Amino acid sequence: MRSTVIHGARDIRLEDRPDPAIIASTDAVVRTVATCVCGSDLWRYRGIADVPRPTPIGHEYVGVVEAVGGDVTTVKPGDFVVGGFLTSDNTCALCKAGAHANCLNGTGYDGCQAELIRVQNADGTLIATPDEPDETMVPSVLALSDVMATGWHAAVSADVQPGSTVVVVGDGAVGLSGVLAAAQLGAERVIAMSRHADRQRIARDFGASDIVAERGDEGVERVKELTGGVGADAVLECVGTHDSVVQALRSARPGAMVGWVGVPHVTDLPQEHMFWKNVGLRGGPAPVRAYLPDLLDRVWKGHIEPGKVFDLALALDQVAEGYAAMDERRAIKALLRP
Ligand SMILES: [Zn+2]
Repeated sequence: MRSTVIHGARDIRLEDRPDPAIIASTDAVVRTVATCVCGSDLWRYRGIADVPRPTPIGHEYVGVVEAVGGDVTTVKPGDFVVGGFLTSDNTCALCKAGAHANCLNGTGYDGCQAELIRVQNADGTLIATPDEPDETMVPSVLALSDVMATGWHAAVSADVQPGSTVVVVGDGAVGLSGVLAAAQLGAERVIAMSRHADRQRIARDFGASDIVAERGDEGVERVKELTGGVGADAVLECVGTHDSVVQALRSARPGAMVGWVGVPHVTDLPQEHMFWKNVGLRGGPAPVRAYLPDLLDRVWKGHIEPGKVFDLALALDQVAEGYAAMDERRAIKALLRP
């Protein structure tokens, strides 16, 4: 099978690798229908995170089950499935508490930007769609594998309530998904911080009521103006840089929670924007499996169309161009078809 391997900064190759096989009785092998490049893959692509050896890459997918181990009961060959960016057994103490990203038996993948994927913990990870989705729905189901679930987690972590005023920091695929999540959870006002016209358009489409293009002190001032001088009830931090975390904390009203889901590259938490304002910070990797049944239902019923974050579709053999396009911000998120 063909599989994407990262060799180092800006060195993405599609290579022939052995087909994955069922190793444990709880495994499934999935033939990919669509996969994609994640903003978090770019940390290694840009050389910010190390690549000590050539490594298969990618952690988002939808596909059709090709084979299952003897103990798999909830999916069968031929099922169209989606799974999250980590596997989970959905039965351990942490999964029962809803913390599937920290499953005691959880695993990652040996690269999902590939034609075939070995999925460990198949029963606790994969969800079969009610039927085979039509072509136009595939991107929206794929988005549940990571970005939409992650945006949802930001909104849940920030405790978005019906009637809330919400600020979303970050206009990448996760930030836009966070806008959609906040709107679905009943936020009355959703303020998207974005400087890019194409992204602002999607944010509006996903339910943003206001756009703030300013950043730093000016951005904080604009948010204050829009929130009666107090700041937002809930803030979604969807970037992960020091500046974006500070922007999020300063946009929060006293007593608010910031939901952070951007993989943080923050060395020094700005406590001055937290303690004296009673502002909290909560979040981390999304427990995708906890949200998947609800989110799939919303997609299936046509209530949400998170696949709109994909603005570039390529064949899998053009995967390197997908990375370059996202790195150079020519694309928000690249979908790949084997
Ligand atoms: Zn578990």
